Amino acid sequence: MSVVSGAKLRVSFYTLGCKLNIAETGSITQMFVQRGYEIVSFESSADVVYINTCTVTKSADSNCRNVIRRARKYSPDATIVVTGCYAQLSSSEVASMLEVDIVLGVDQKEKIFELLEKIKNSGKKTTEIDVSDSSDKSFFQRGVSALDDGKTRTFLKVQDGCDYCCSYCVIPHARGKPRSLPLSQVLGEVNRVVKSGVKEVVLTGINLGEYRDGSNNLVTLISKIKDTDTGIKLQRLRISSIEPNKVTKDLLLALKDLPSFMDYFHLPLQSGDDEILKKMNRKYTTTDYLNVLEMIKKYFPSAGIGSDIIVGFPGECEREFENACNFIKSSPITHLHLFPYSRREGTVAAKMEIEAIKNKAAVSSEEKKKRMAILKTIAEKKINDFSLSMIGQKVTVLCENKKNRTGLYQGYTSNYLRALVSISNDKLNLANSIVEASVTKAKGNVLYVSYLQ
Ligand code: SF4
Repeated sequence: MSVVSGAKLRVSFYTLGCKLNIAETGSITQMFVQRGYEIVSFESSADVVYINTCTVTKSADSNCRNVIRRARKYSPDATIVVTGCYAQLSSSEVASMLEVDIVLGVDQKEKIFELLEKIKNSGKKTTEIDVSDSSDKSFFQRGVSALDDGKTRTFLKVQDGCDYCCSYCVIPHARGKPRSLPLSQVLGEVNRVVKSGVKEVVLTGINLGEYRDGSNNLVTLISKIKDTDTGIKLQRLRISSIEPNKVTKDLLLALKDLPSFMDYFHLPLQSGDDEILKKMNRKYTTTDYLNVLEMIKKYFPSAGIGSDIIVGFPGECEREFENACNFIKSSPITHLHLFPYSRREGTVAAKMEIEAIKNKAAVSSEEKKKRMAILKTIAEKKINDFSLSMIGQKVTVLCENKKNRTGLYQGYTSNYLRALVSISNDKLNLANSIVEASVTKAKGNVLYVSYLQ
């Protein structure tokens, strides 16, 4: 029990980056609670501040440094712990920050307690660093986002690491080789989550489609979840981002056969031009990608399809950008996430950018801004058209909570549109309930629906 002079020790958390980080912080939070810590908000004064970082872009790194400085401001006497991908790849840079007391690699997250003990016993104030080389990654860091924080959705980490070599990406260096949570443990975690009353589970990983446990892959995992009978039904299951080359007919059939599956797919495209896809070392062409989307629409006609696009990849000329815009416009993508290209040192693309600069073919930041604006307009039209196509349809919504001052419940439909639910009897408490509703209006990615009581 972590008590100093009778008062519980207080810990606060800050998580940057992907769903995997959220899930991992969830598990670490449980470990602090089991050791008697009191969880406080990041803005409150704490004895320990645990920051789980991201390094996917340059701005992600500076966001992390900003959060570290804020942590010291909110908790002047705390032990500040920095872990995650930024700590893994830039440990000395992180450790050089005066605010930082402990730096942990992505697989050393659970070592926090022995290091806190060490600091407490030694009373020393030198920065402790424990970051293992990412190549020998065999350890699987657990990840289940918090079950008891009233959230209706839980992220469950089932896979980690990646051995794809996309030319712009540092994640394989941070997260190491692919590895997965054994199938029996995944099923155990799903049961535990369902029993806790959470209605929606999101399976997540760095390269989820590469889930592998012996002869079991993502298709068998989905089928096993279907067959698991805990007496309490899993109501909603989502899969997070998945590489397009891993979306197969077998996977779609397994998902089709799973009543709780929510028809939203997130397939990062990154570019709508084949030359750029080659330079990115992605594993598909635009034709392959379109074939996968059409297969999805065959089995899930009203599915939402999300995608990521990198804008201004080194050497991306006007024609290639135009190709990308035309491809995206004519594709059934509904939700677009846009990222300006960000050079990550040590990547192949970073060398390409230096070449492009030498050959006066680099994409200037003004040009990147212009292209981001063009794609943003395309993205807004895509999601708006998709929402408008839902008017008059019936949808199921997992209501999360009431939207301030509106009396409307808010939540998400199965195909990942935000829904504002109007109810005739406002004494009804629909929080964490799944309701059937009819779409009356749509604007942007928001549907206005009325609950069919
Ligand atoms: S699939 Fe490509 S972009 Fe995704 S984590 Fe692996 S290397 Fe990075």
